Amino acid sequence: MKRRDFLKAVVGVIIGGGFVSEALAATSTIAGITTPEDYDSHIKDYLQKMRHFNLHHEEDVHLDWKEFKLLESCIKRFRRVQRTVGHGNFYLLSFDDAIRIARNYQRVGRFSSAELEFLEKIFYVDASHYGFFGVKPLKNITDRVQKRQVLKVPYTGNYLYRGLPTETYNKIKRDVGDKVILTSGVRSVIKQSFLFLNKTYRSKGNLSLASRSLAPPGYSYHGIGDFDVGQVGLGVANFTERFTTTRVYKQLMNLGYLKIRYTQDNLLGVRFEPWHIKVNS
Ligand SMILES: [Zn+2]
Repeated sequence: MKRRDFLKAVVGVIIGGGFVSEALAATSTIAGITTPEDYDSHIKDYLQKMRHFNLHHEEDVHLDWKEFKLLESCIKRFRRVQRTVGHGNFYLLSFDDAIRIARNYQRVGRFSSAELEFLEKIFYVDASHYGFFGVKPLKNITDRVQKRQVLKVPYTGNYLYRGLPTETYNKIKRDVGDKVILTSGVRSVIKQSFLFLNKTYRSKGNLSLASRSLAPPGYSYHGIGDFDVGQVGLGVANFTERFTTTRVYKQLMNLGYLKIRYTQDNLLGVRFEPWHIKVNS
């Protein structure tokens, strides 16, 4: 059995409510694994891969050449859409809005049917095929962020959902102080698609590599309320393990705010993300 399928079986059992020991027993049956040594070697191999999430690995799944060309043209079109609507609005833009903008503005140009088919395929394919085992909170490519449900957070260029996410962020600001900043909030299907496609492009079409550090569209909890924080002045290093060495991180940990969604050594195919605040359970 391929290691990918093995992990699919393990995660299926864990999400299904079993404890790890039960998961091991059940998975052993599913995967035809007979010894704890087999199990250990699969897990060890997986953890090794996740620690080196940004490298190419043997079993990684790639786009074919034709799809890669479509990926390229979609990225360019998304970039023109973003330039047209502005960076802030792009965070909230729905799939239908993007199609409309592309059609109405000559400088963007309408999406070709091949591009639309490609975007739908990326959205609807079961991401566990290429190694991502997280939950998919957004089920439809046309799901939209309602403007009245979100608030723009001053000085960040980002939005947060009203209610618990905003309350949580305000509480964090009150408790931790001026050093903590929102680094990424609400992301629509289009925004997440753009981020994921860019990462896949930089990974030369490697979907598995991209999904180890960025949830595929539909799978991101940024779509329903989670958000990222960082320390002011740390810049892009806020999205690296360096963040765990900051005062802000330590304060957040001590105050119990960091209920981390993607923990160190998780089995969901996602790297450790200590900056990601889990709002939804
Ligand atoms: Zn995040």
